[in-house]
Amino acid sequence: VLKKKGVSQATLQVAVRCRPLTPTERSLGSRPITRLVDNKIVVVMDPEPNHQNHNMYGKGHSSAAQKREKKYVFDVAFDGSCDNREIYGKTVGNLVPGVLRGLNATVFAYGATGSGKTYTMVGSNMDPGLMVLSLRDIFEHIDRDTEKQIDVTCSYLEVYNEIIYDLLQPTAAQRGLDLREDPENGPQVAGLRRLKVHSAEKIFQLLREGNLRRRTESTDANAESSRSHAVLEIVVRRSDKNHYAKNVYTGKLALVDLAGAERAHETNNQGQQLRDGANINRSLLALANCINALGKRKKKGFVFVPFRNSKLTRLLKDGLCGNSRTIMIATCASADSQYSHTVNTLKYADRAKEI
Ligand code: ADP
Ligand code: MG
Repeated sequence: VLKKKGVSQATLQVAVRCRPLTPTERSLGSRPITRLVDNKIVVVMDPEPNHQNHNMYGKGHSSAAQKREKKYVFDVAFDGSCDNREIYGKTVGNLVPGVLRGLNATVFAYGATGSGKTYTMVGSNMDPGLMVLSLRDIFEHIDRDTEKQIDVTCSYLEVYNEIIYDLLQPTAAQRGLDLREDPENGPQVAGLRRLKVHSAEKIFQLLREGNLRRRTESTDANAESSRSHAVLEIVVRRSDKNHYAKNVYTGKLALVDLAGAERAHETNNQGQQLRDGANINRSLLALANCINALGKRKKKGFVFVPFRNSKLTRLLKDGLCGNSRTIMIATCASADSQYSHTVNTLKYADRAKEI
């Protein structure tokens, strides 16, 4: 038997989170259709179990019903009983020690609008999300390690219609920012605010304010609200307290609340390059294509990876290849009404495992 585990763990961990039904879904009579087995397998049940009675599928109904039940295996899967803390412990929490030693890591939340991406990344007072939990953990490590001098800075930006905005600046002061390549330090967003952070609690407030500035949550149109990517970058610089040896390690952790995936995965046929449709988010397409290419590269050796095709992939390039660790958290709504979004998200996440 091949030791597949060791291979798939190398760079990308794929996690799935199925959120519980919302009160609204419950009041509309939705049923949950996802089920986990062994904290690794996600089963999506047929959303119309009664269609044997109402025989709209004709003679082939039973095989159609079977075909509509899907099963996927991931590194780890979470259901509605898990809070953000538990998810943190089994995903990002494992990368934080590396970031403190100077490694880079990137975490994405990928899923349809309403599937729980922002809940996972930002969370609430009651259930703080991965962005806040990461910072808390980083500060706890720092408090234990009094030998070193450690600086933590954060930036929080949005990519909307291929323009980068600073979410830590008041809306009135916002303008599109340029992305430049620096041969030594990688991609740099000119003029982006970097805050020195001393505690995790302060950042929670900043994230909340930043989120209110997203082009997204401020409009009522859901169509708009699903199109922006929010990127929190935490940079940890560690240097020896005595200044004889100039050893400085810089680690970066990027946490990304992606735009709604519904449009991208509608066209996301197996093995086929995604086409740029009028309504499809360019950065999300480019990310999908890069992930595809990275997967092929791993199987076939050198394959061109089109990082330059969008702002998001240019920004995250360093966090996706080389020595970086990446986690994709695919989010699903468990409701029967979301069957096709859920299946599409899981298919996409399933393919990402090849990286
Ligand atoms: P997205 O950012 O993917 O569009 P949200 O994070 O805004 O989705 O979640 C949609 C709705 O579902 C929100 O009302 C949110 O509070 C709720 N929700 C999402 N995930 C969970 C969860 N794990 N537990 C409870 N409620 C959740
Ligand atoms: Mg959201």
